[in-house]
Amino acid sequence: MSEVYKPGYLEVIFGPMKSGKSEVFIILFKKLSYSNHEWVTFKPAVNIREEGIASRAFNLNLQAIVIDENHPELIFEHLKGKKYKIIGIDEAQFFDDYLVDIVDTLLKQRYHVIVSGLMLNFRGEPFGPMPWLVGRANKVTRLTGICDVNECNRRATRTQRLINGEPASYDSPVVVIEGQGKKETYETRCVIHHIVPKSNVKNKSID
Ligand SMILES: [Zn+2]
Repeated sequence: MSEVYKPGYLEVIFGPMKSGKSEVFIILFKKLSYSNHEWVTFKPAVNIREEGIASRAFNLNLQAIVIDENHPELIFEHLKGKKYKIIGIDEAQFFDDYLVDIVDTLLKQRYHVIVSGLMLNFRGEPFGPMPWLVGRANKVTRLTGICDVNECNRRATRTQRLINGEPASYDSPVVVIEGQGKKETYETRCVIHHIVPKSNVKNKSID
């Protein structure tokens, strides 16, 4: 039987959008409520849609403290005088890379840390501190979605950004604040259906 609380232990849950990360994260912490270990969860302030962490598809939600993504060290302010043993960090990709050092410090302080986030941005490239955290993790849970393209049914590992229904170009910003400008939507897609047009890249064909 593995213990619920493991001091200095890092778990990372990652996958594309719509792969069930929030559901896994929420259920994990809901179950911890049955233990006598105290826990707390944090999320970045960027792109805030709701106060806590929510899965609208499954009607699940969890309380989370909102932290300025540029100052992950503010997490320490919320731990003073508390008996938390297990710390959750959701949407970790939005935090400054400095989050890696913060997590390292938390582990050295014997906290058990559980991180969830997107490994890859819409371009299919490493997203913020996530790859660094995965590299340091004791346990990794890799989730996949089911490709949103009709009748594809392949496992989805990528997040497709669409602007007015068309694939967003490689040059568009990695983080888009919702409600500003064009209509952005996201799909989960397999690698074959993941489309990122590169407008300024020359064709490197070999003659
Ligand atoms: Zn597909």
